[in-house]
Amino acid sequence: MGYVIDAPKVISVAVNNSEDRFPVRRVFCVGRNYAAHAREMGANPERELPFYFMKPTDAIVGTGVDVPYPPQTSNLHYEAELVVAIGKSCLDVPIEDALNYVYGYAVGNDLTRRDLQLEAREKSRPWDTGKGFDHSAPCGPIHRVDQVGHIKNARIWLSVNGQIKQDSNVNDLIWSVGEVIANLSSLFTLQAGDLIYTGTPEGVGPVVKGDMIIAGIDGLGKLETKIV
Ligand code: MN
Repeated sequence: MGYVIDAPKVISVAVNNSEDRFPVRRVFCVGRNYAAHAREMGANPERELPFYFMKPTDAIVGTGVDVPYPPQTSNLHYEAELVVAIGKSCLDVPIEDALNYVYGYAVGNDLTRRDLQLEAREKSRPWDTGKGFDHSAPCGPIHRVDQVGHIKNARIWLSVNGQIKQDSNVNDLIWSVGEVIANLSSLFTLQAGDLIYTGTPEGVGPVVKGDMIIAGIDGLGKLETKIV
């Protein structure tokens, strides 16, 4: 048996200190998971349960990969995020067991066509065009839990052309990694290969063609993305 068209290639992310790569199944993202960012987006962080959106798997690009300025926007934003890589499938996992399903962590950038996202938000429409475009999910190398432990208290930062724009700590997450996995696994059977972008701290802003974005999380290295 063959396929009537070419089968899609496996999308994968580098694994730190390894020749092998992490195959990506799905890309989940958490909305408004830092209080100061929720406020800068005009939302009230105290009154919201976590919510999710997704990006297509082939939106993933690695560090050092140039990202073309996307079409149909004049307000492309960066969002530095802690990315969780799921290593084992789970459904309805309790919070106290949730971290056992983590393979590793990476630095991510939830690139966003902010104008399209806000228009969709105002019209109560889905966020796909604002969030799920080509190359919208830069992701650095995954660092295995058995090498770096669980990332609970670490600086998260992002610079544009060398100027710091975001500077926070992942311990400011409203919903912790364990709580996110527990909640998300009540909605979906999480599978090995799933990535979860856990949300961005305050300080989001626009980039233009030619900008160099560098995001970092202590212990997880850097993610470099040039907009071309
Ligand atoms: Mn985000």
